Amino acid sequence: MVHDPTLDGVTHINVYSKGKTKLGKFLSNFTHTPIETEDGHFESVEGYWHWLGLRDDKLRTLYGWEAKKYASNSVKTFKLTEEEFKNKIRKAITIKLETNPDKLSELRNTVLPLAHYYVFNGFAKDAGYKWILEHINSFRIERKAPMIYTAQYRYSGQDRIDITVKGNHIVGKLYAPTWDMIMGLKNGKIIEDQYTQMYYKMLCDRWENKDYRETTLSLVDMVTTGSQSVGHPRGITFVCFCPAENFCHRYLLVKWFQHNWNVPYGGERSL
Ligand SMILES: [Zn+2]
Repeated sequence: MVHDPTLDGVTHINVYSKGKTKLGKFLSNFTHTPIETEDGHFESVEGYWHWLGLRDDKLRTLYGWEAKKYASNSVKTFKLTEEEFKNKIRKAITIKLETNPDKLSELRNTVLPLAHYYVFNGFAKDAGYKWILEHINSFRIERKAPMIYTAQYRYSGQDRIDITVKGNHIVGKLYAPTWDMIMGLKNGKIIEDQYTQMYYKMLCDRWENKDYRETTLSLVDMVTTGSQSVGHPRGITFVCFCPAENFCHRYLLVKWFQHNWNVPYGGERSL
């Protein structure tokens, strides 16, 4: 794929020491990002990269072009298999990300695809090393912040929480409406606006209940910090019988979570 360098940071992120985004620059191996690898301390992944071939400890202290230049004047002595080499670099990149939480969360939160190309006279030239981008991408997916989703009843993912009045999910039943509300809406005794008010009042009243409060806060904690205390590592999906996009308390519940705790909503799951 050919990228337009003027759209770096808009349609994609170029992982490049001269890229336009801070994240792209950070992700470049050239960048000065001290790391503790299984082979000791290095000032950059680039230095480590060349050290693996040369075992020259001067490379521990170098980064950027200086590391590359220094290495280009030396003769490779130590030989790893290609896979051994790649694995060590992958591990080093993981360590680099894990020891820079700000950049890690930037990476987790962006949806832009990563690219790796050089720019010459305004034109992109593919820089290769797809396996590096693949590694960063799979790391990103693994660490993606969990979100709240909604779905129709037949959704069967592990993170499914049945919030219908008939459900018996230990968490889901805390957010179920009452039979009165459901029948009232069905019989036309109350309208959607009244149902909405009743539902929010119900959620507020339940706040007095310790179980309810603690469960709610741990759901919030999970989707805002990524902790897994509720046991759904990929997020939460509230399900109900209503067809997608129709009036349904699952959307009211999401709005309530968004309004109170600004939780990320991943949308209605397509089945
Ligand atoms: Zn519903």
